[in-house]
Amino acid sequence: MGASLLARWTGRSIYDIEPGALARKGVRLLLADLDNTLVPYGVPEPDQALRTWTEALSGEGITLFILSNNRHPQRPRRFSEALGVPYIGHAGKPKTGSFYQAMERMGCTPEQTAIVGDQIFTDILGGNSAGVTTLLVEPIRLAGNPGRYLRYAAEWPFRALSQKRSVTL
Ligand SMILES: [Mg+2]
Repeated sequence: MGASLLARWTGRSIYDIEPGALARKGVRLLLADLDNTLVPYGVPEPDQALRTWTEALSGEGITLFILSNNRHPQRPRRFSEALGVPYIGHAGKPKTGSFYQAMERMGCTPEQTAIVGDQIFTDILGGNSAGVTTLLVEPIRLAGNPGRYLRYAAEWPFRALSQKRSVTL
């Protein structure tokens, strides 16, 4: 089974990621998928919990940076501006271009960078290819699109093995 499809750490949601623990691992840049990772699809604005978590990251010296494959240019732009964090939309994950672009913009190396996302074949594959630490969370909501269930089923073996081997943060 390809190691490139396994996440280094798995959790229920982004709120299982403790900013202080991540900082102690040397992480300074946390790339984050938007849809179904930070908020459900279609939610236009960050909620208070996400704002608080983003501030806690910032307090530990970690920049949150949204890396979204969403093809509607307004969606990641509006959301990131409302949260006050940098972003790249239409990122083309799992291709590594946007990962390197984000690291260059923030002056960080792959060793100082992590990605959190809900999808194996975009977020985790891309993150492993770019040499950053990969953090996998459960999709916030599968309902609403049958394709999401099919994708989740295809991801399942890699998700299960990642869970089994997950490191502690
Ligand atoms: Mg997603």
